[in-house]
Amino acid sequence: MISETMCRLGKHKSVIREIFEYSKERAAKIGAENVFDFSLGNPNVPAPDSVKDTIRKLLDEKDDLYLHGYTSAQGDADTRQAVAEDLNRRYGTHFHADNFYMTCGAAASLKICLTALTVPGDEFLTFAPYFPEYQVFVETAGASFRPVQTEEGTFQIDFEKLEAALTEHTKGILVNSPNNPSGVIFPEAAVQKLAELLREKSEAYGHPIYLIADEPYRELAYGKDVPYLTKYYDNTLVCYSYSKSLSLPGERIGYILVPDELEDCQDMYAAVCGAGRALGYVCAPSLFQHVIAACAGQVSDLGVYRENRELLYGSLTEYGYECVYPDGAFYLFVKALEEDANAFCERAKKYELLLVPGDDFGAPGYVRIAYCVTTHQIRRSLPAFRALAEEYGK
Ligand code: PLP
Repeated sequence: MISETMCRLGKHKSVIREIFEYSKERAAKIGAENVFDFSLGNPNVPAPDSVKDTIRKLLDEKDDLYLHGYTSAQGDADTRQAVAEDLNRRYGTHFHADNFYMTCGAAASLKICLTALTVPGDEFLTFAPYFPEYQVFVETAGASFRPVQTEEGTFQIDFEKLEAALTEHTKGILVNSPNNPSGVIFPEAAVQKLAELLREKSEAYGHPIYLIADEPYRELAYGKDVPYLTKYYDNTLVCYSYSKSLSLPGERIGYILVPDELEDCQDMYAAVCGAGRALGYVCAPSLFQHVIAACAGQVSDLGVYRENRELLYGSLTEYGYECVYPDGAFYLFVKALEEDANAFCERAKKYELLLVPGDDFGAPGYVRIAYCVTTHQIRRSLPAFRALAEEYGK
């Protein structure tokens, strides 16, 4: 007898992964340049030179034990200190090394935080549209997953709906801004309102409601501020990843931040260490912890994404597609040209356009287009987008 839940999760891959596999098949048949794959959030911008230089320097100067040996379970102390200093410099905060737990990217950070927090009967909310893996992470931690719809047409927080969804069982809210898949950023006023509401409800229910800030796209904001949530709400855990900001998704490196202001922060930090241990996530990849110690405040050349956004948003809206202008991340979340986004994506395949239906993001009727590809691919794909729109009489 094996776990039915795990078997089901393994058999039904995420829709994004399925499209990615299909893309590889098509590329083998008709050539990669003829497949317009917009499915995966795999950054195409290279890591900054400083990352590569640091790796070379480390390999030349350090011994194997330092490079490839185990670090402390919670991560190398110098790395955690470097991360703290970088944030303090940028946000005027007062973090220190012991606020941080180094992990294997945002996915591991989220899973650890949810496991550390959950007791039977708990519920976690998030705002739809949302990253589909949230449901998997929340439910396999033993809690219930409760998405809350955002405002029609803007994807901003709908406070009436949020208030109606909060109950005495609400343990926390997953917040992802800049958002995958909509590209929306929650502005300061919304964050302040959210913090106020949660303080009020925490008081009324007699227990804290936590914010879990999922921040892989923090650095991918094009001219808009992304409020740093710990400054607005004490009971905030931050899950960060260098997958997108340094273009290192395959290296699995990120961290959890447990600020001193969080209620019972020492027990919370212990629970994070415990969950990391229980899930087998102790000691994030050593080499990349040392890379982060040297490169914590740097980012890849994000200018390419901004250029891609302008080109794709401008062209698609000209062809008749509807879409919220994204302020961050590297996705467009476009209204499908028929009610069923799955049928629309199937039709798009005729033009070798690989798009992801919004259903698994909690937004049926929309499709996600990941524009972290080459600008050349976007240019080449535009006639296909135009032809697809024309098929729907646009
Ligand atoms: N959260 C969101 C919103 C994401 O889009 C992703 C990856 O695309 C993750 C978490 C997982 O990130 P990581 O690769 O750092 O595990």
